[in-house]
Amino acid sequence: MVNLDDKLTELRNEENRILGAIDERNRKRKIQCGACDDFHEIGNLKAIQTHWYTPPTGCTEGDYWNDGELQYVCPETGIINRLLFDNNDVPWKERKDFDNNPEEQFKRNYKKLFEEVTDNYDRTIPGKWVNNYYVDRNREKFGLVERRKRT
Ligand SMILES: [Zn+2]
Repeated sequence: MVNLDDKLTELRNEENRILGAIDERNRKRKIQCGACDDFHEIGNLKAIQTHWYTPPTGCTEGDYWNDGELQYVCPETGIINRLLFDNNDVPWKERKDFDNNPEEQFKRNYKKLFEEVTDNYDRTIPGKWVNNYYVDRNREKFGLVERRKRT
């Protein structure tokens, strides 16, 4: 007779093994650089998580910090790539849904895979930078929600 607790432990171990293998695969995925045009493996890049501030409103709402865009530093040139997403194909009301937000999905699945992630609470970008839409333009490659057909 099968012990259900043992079976569940076994399944969870298997799940963790598969999740680890997926991270390993994703870590090797490459982003074309907006600074040097080469393809860089995500696992070899240093990322910067930006933050922006919401001041307090009225007497009930406190201030807080929001996660902004994710950036990475080109290892060849030191130029910062802003990983930007054009989510205009998704109606405003639906953007908060996880499935309809490719940027949130990318951060959730890939941010932990960069070589390191530092936080920036400053409003300025420290150094030269470029806009990079590679991930957004290749959503399928990164397993992100697909772009909607415009009607
Ligand atoms: Zn580069």
